[in-house]
Amino acid sequence: MGSWRRRASFVAVAVLAVAGVPASAQAEQASNLEQSVVQTMLGERATSSAALAAQGRSAEVDVQRKDAAGSWAFGAATLTAYSVEGAAPDASLFVAHRTGRNWQIALDTSPGFAGLIQSSPESVVSAGEKQTFAANARNAAAPLGLSLPYPPGVSWTMIGGVHGWSGQPRPWSSVDLNGGDRRVLAAQSGRAYWMCNNGGHIRIIHDNGWTTEYYHLLDEIKPNGEPIKMGDYLGMTSTRIPCGGSAGSNHVHFALKQGNSWVALNGKTIGGWTFYEGSRAYSGYATHQTVRRNVGQALQNYGPDDPGH
Ligand SMILES: [Zn+2]
Repeated sequence: MGSWRRRASFVAVAVLAVAGVPASAQAEQASNLEQSVVQTMLGERATSSAALAAQGRSAEVDVQRKDAAGSWAFGAATLTAYSVEGAAPDASLFVAHRTGRNWQIALDTSPGFAGLIQSSPESVVSAGEKQTFAANARNAAAPLGLSLPYPPGVSWTMIGGVHGWSGQPRPWSSVDLNGGDRRVLAAQSGRAYWMCNNGGHIRIIHDNGWTTEYYHLLDEIKPNGEPIKMGDYLGMTSTRIPCGGSAGSNHVHFALKQGNSWVALNGKTIGGWTFYEGSRAYSGYATHQTVRRNVGQALQNYGPDDPGH
């Protein structure tokens, strides 16, 4: 795995302002890559740098790896969150291939991602990661086989019921949890990625087609695609908003994706609890057999294999 790492963070309008004024050939190449990633992300989200700036948000690109020839790259890109309640960053992994001066960019939400990942040299994307991405891209299996993100047998409080990754917008894929020693643990094995330039956000891609996301982490690990086991430490619950958003009290914003798409938690069972949405975001409840727990109540973690009902 290449150790080449470069981070860039800029208000989106500044990206356009610096275009075409490289300090050197090397800077030109790197700068083009980062700008290409940002432009791809803005384009696929049907937004603009001006709209982003007007919202007080920024685009950040973390080029985590490059091959020796400088023609392949891999990393994470983030549009930081609005500063409104419940908002969370919009983060993607990307793979990039340069032909001449032009970078071809595939975000993990782009149709071409799987193909470009498989074509990339193993100095940029390891054989193990290629397997994980391919397995994750196949249809997700039911049941989920996920634990809650804390130790089995331990109870944490559901401080926020089912809601969207960014609060109100559907699908309501997320739940807010806090308790115990605040140590957030991996909900299942997979490969872990550190998503935001400023930290606090970890993604785990599971082989069974599901993906879990964790935000507001403090003292988090900084994984770069390494394998991770269920129960491994990820970070502490906190009120950190390193990539924007809001957090009124310590918690982990824990969310579910099928592959790269957010999915509603309504009716899904994790750690033995089947989650149900309420009439509005952050309300709702969870059930285990005949037990019902509302927001503000404790959920004992029954582990990944409990059918819940
Ligand atoms: Zn949340």
